[in-house]
Parts: sequence; C-alpha cells; structure tokens
Amino acid sequence: MPWCEECAKYWTPSAMNEDGTCPSCGRVVEAQKATPKNIDVKKLAAGDDEEDATAPWHFKLLMVLLALYLGWRVVDLFL
Ligand SMILES: [Zn+2]
Repeated sequence: MPWCEECAKYWTPSAMNEDGTCPSCGRVVEAQKATPKNIDVKKLAAGDDEEDATAPWHFKLLMVLLALYLGWRVVDLFL
C-alpha cells in the first residue's frame, strides 16, 4: 500500500495521481514508486536469469525432439 509520510496516510493506487504522487500534498508516494522497481529488479536478478538459462535448454530439447519426430515422420512416409 502506498504510504505518504507527509500526510501520514495510505493511498490506494487508484486514489493517487497518475504519476504516483500524493493527491493531497503532491509528494511522490514512496511505496508506490519503490515497490514495483524492487520487484522488477529482484525478478531480473533472480527469476529472469534462471528463465534465460532454462528456457533455451527446454527450447533446444523441444526443437531436437521436433526434428527427430519430423525426421521419423518423413522416413515413415517413404517406407
Ligand atoms: Zn501526501
């Protein structure tokens, strides 16, 4: 929940200004600004790296299996 220290008040994202500032005092509400960035950074640092490492591996395996399957289908076609 975005918290404005100036107003000592929580703001729902829909209640705040579109640029993430407090509708009452105009200050940038820190939680709103920091939380998505922190989540993105953590995802980029941990999650996406793992996905980058595993996704091509699965993709390659899938392509190899697909190639084997299609190759077998072609051979089966001419037998
Ligand atoms: Zn405020």
